[in-house]
Amino acid sequence: MKNTRGQPLTYNSIQHLLNNRRYIGEYTYRDIVVPDGIPAIVPQDLFERVQDRLAKNKKAPARYKAEEDYLLTTKLFCGYCGAYLCGESGTSHTGNTHRYYKCVSVKKKRQECHKKSVRKEWIEDFVVGETMKMVMDDKAIEAIVSMLMDLQDRENVNLPLYEQQLREADIAIQNLLNAIQQGILTKSTKGRLEELEATKEELETRIACEKLAKPKVSAEFMTFWLHRFRKLDVRQKAHRKMLIDTFINAIFLYDDKMVITFNYKEGTDTITFDDLKTSPAAEKSGSDLDCLTAV
Ligand SMILES: [Zn+2]
Repeated sequence: MKNTRGQPLTYNSIQHLLNNRRYIGEYTYRDIVVPDGIPAIVPQDLFERVQDRLAKNKKAPARYKAEEDYLLTTKLFCGYCGAYLCGESGTSHTGNTHRYYKCVSVKKKRQECHKKSVRKEWIEDFVVGETMKMVMDDKAIEAIVSMLMDLQDRENVNLPLYEQQLREADIAIQNLLNAIQQGILTKSTKGRLEELEATKEELETRIACEKLAKPKVSAEFMTFWLHRFRKLDVRQKAHRKMLIDTFINAIFLYDDKMVITFNYKEGTDTITFDDLKTSPAAEKSGSDLDCLTAV
């Protein structure tokens, strides 16, 4: 990449680009700061997110990438003490790297907690497998779609209000027209009728605008969108991440079971590890878990 003078772009100029508050419209002259002094070309929230990321990277440059690798970070909690499980890795005497999720209380010896660490691959395969089971289940997908439709209707508070007002205006107009038919026509009925017609017209415009502003997503489209998840390749990290980020709300992990809360499904699923003839304690045998990824 070259700059406008044809010189190679340096790390410093990128740093300057990312830090420059002029992009959010802040104009500084000596020690006077004028917010919105010049036109902003970067939205404030984006700028702030960039500052957060820069601050984090400064603290621990390699940390971000490591966290990325642990797909369940922020979703996985200890069933016994409620703390997060965080990613940890260690090298065995044979030189192999082992990666785990470990209860923060155990790690920091903060409080009495004896939760065993679980192997990263094992728990991630398990969660991805359970999520995929739900995605493959037509009834679950139907339930998600109907919930989303409800949510969508609830989100738009103006539209039902305007529609109600429109119905009321229509009734009032009809009543007046009936009165006119019966020969009751005074100056005030005529004025009132015109008023109502104007209100009706305005409401119709508002309703049209609301509908334009918030186009309703159809149930068919939502189903289609959700069905696309069925085609994901659960062996690919990006696909696994997408599944977890989209569907998993929280997982409470015990030594013998876990409780999964999905994002779009009412209630929770409790899965006991006995069902799978394997347990977190059987950390060293990885091959029996392959069946999970093949869902
Ligand atoms: Zn714990």
